[in-house]
Parts: sequence; C-alpha cells; structure tokens
Amino acid sequence: MRLYYRSFPDSPFLEIRDSPVSGLGVFARSAIHAGELLAVCGGIVYSTADCPSEGHAMQVGEDLWLWSDGGNLDDFINHSCGPNSGFVNGKPELFALKDIAPGEEIVWDYSTSLVEEGWSLQCRCGSKSCRGKILPFFSLSPEDRRRLLPVSLDFIRRMFEKRLAEDVE
Ligand SMILES: [Zn+2]
Repeated sequence: MRLYYRSFPDSPFLEIRDSPVSGLGVFARSAIHAGELLAVCGGIVYSTADCPSEGHAMQVGEDLWLWSDGGNLDDFINHSCGPNSGFVNGKPELFALKDIAPGEEIVWDYSTSLVEEGWSLQCRCGSKSCRGKILPFFSLSPEDRRRLLPVSLDFIRRMFEKRLAEDVE
C-alpha cells in the first residue's frame, strides 16, 4: 500500500533557515494564530520492512512510516519537548498550538508520532520542560502521555485506548 501526502511546496508564512536547536529549522515569516494549519507532512507511506533507510522517516502507524527524500518542508521541522505545533486532528498535519510570533521556530514533539521501542535521542531543545531524551510515546511518563495524547497521531491514540482497555496503562 502506498499513500501520498502532499506537503505545502512553498509556504507563504514559513521559511527554512539555520536553527539554534540543530542544523536547519522552519521559522514563522509572519504572525501565526493558534489553530492555524502549518504543514501537511509529505512523503510516501511504507511498511517497516519496505521503508528505505536513507532519507527521512516519520512513524505514522504501528507498522507504517511516512518516508521523504528530504525535499519536504516538514522534514526540516525540529523537535521540542515544549512544542508550539502538534497533530491536533490526529493526522500528520501540524497545527499551531498557540499564537506564534514572526521569527519563532516551528517545533513539534517527536514522541507524538513514535512508538518504536528502544528508540531514543539526546535532546537539547532548550525548552523549560525538556525531558533530556526523546523517547517513544509509551516510554514517556504517564503524565507526559496524557498531556501529549491530544496532539498525537491517531494510531497512538488508538493504541493508548487499547492499552487502557487492557489495563496496561
Ligand atoms: Zn527537549
């Protein structure tokens, strides 16, 4: 199965440039209001077994990855433990979680799309709420899971509900 998501080719209100967090980042060109759609994550959906190892891959299902060659705007959006964007509607579409000022970096919490056990990355996002490590959703503390669930992808919300029903949480 292959699904294609189209990223905004040229966003009038976002730009890619050097980030103080890491490498390149995506920044607001102008003021953005809470609730506005910022980016539709772009790429091709692969199963874990078929996903190319090169390029960018973002988990979008228990066994599904949205792969990109690195040419989509969303590939440049960095992680933050204190994100200003998130998957409000459960789809791989980033919405502003608060009003964003011109020049502010757009960031989302990578744990809201990731359940691959054993995966971790040191975090230096600089946010006051930095957890020090980016971890899969179900390795987060119960408090962080509850806080991030409303901005997580649908498959994570379903897994969460299933675990609740099975009393794993
Ligand atoms: Zn952090």
